[in-house]
Amino acid sequence: MSHAFTPAPLVTLPIEGGDQQFPVRRVYCVGRNYADHAKEMGADTREPPFFFSKPADALVPVSGAGAAPVAYPPATSNLQHEVELVVALGPQVGELGDGGLNIPVGQALEAVFGYAVGFDLTRRDLQQRAKEKAHPWDMGKGFDQSGPIGTILTVEQCGHPEQGSIWLEVNGERRQAGDLAQMSWKVAEVIANLSTYLRLAPGDLIFTGTPAGVSTVVQGDTLEGGVDGLGQIAIRLV
Ligand code: MN
Repeated sequence: MSHAFTPAPLVTLPIEGGDQQFPVRRVYCVGRNYADHAKEMGADTREPPFFFSKPADALVPVSGAGAAPVAYPPATSNLQHEVELVVALGPQVGELGDGGLNIPVGQALEAVFGYAVGFDLTRRDLQQRAKEKAHPWDMGKGFDQSGPIGTILTVEQCGHPEQGSIWLEVNGERRQAGDLAQMSWKVAEVIANLSTYLRLAPGDLIFTGTPAGVSTVVQGDTLEGGVDGLGQIAIRLV
């Protein structure tokens, strides 16, 4: 079979310590999963989790030394950073629950291939306007290069991080400082809940939410963020 034109390439991410790449299928994100960030956004602190998506090709693989260039996006005057623990689902997910649907909490961690550090870049002004009008968040969250993400560490390499520092600095100044233990919905609960809405599959990523301290960044800023045990990533807005 031939295509009418060259298809877009498969999005892949490097895996720590090997030549293999992680093939990405979908990118899900959890909204407000740390109580202190929910408060700063003016929301209740223990609502059920809710989800939105980014296109897979919004990811920007970031690895190695130095800050990776990321284009400051159009149509915003309030770009903000959110540093997040990202969960990568592996081949086992299809064997859990009803083929990736309705995965029990107690089995959900078996779906995890590994973890990475990610930034959920957000056009906060567009997201805010969407909230006010009860419009979808896509243009606030799913724009080009809105998902810088580091190398994936496998569960064998990093275990299942449940506590430890999650932080972000802008131009060397600490803006976000939290702990994974503050997550309202733990990784297993997030996977189980998301799988009640749709069938999860190998290659799916889940950005699990951000702690307090989100702030506005501008062109020229360098953003560096990390999670204990997973290393750190850095980008520069160009
Ligand atoms: Mn987020």
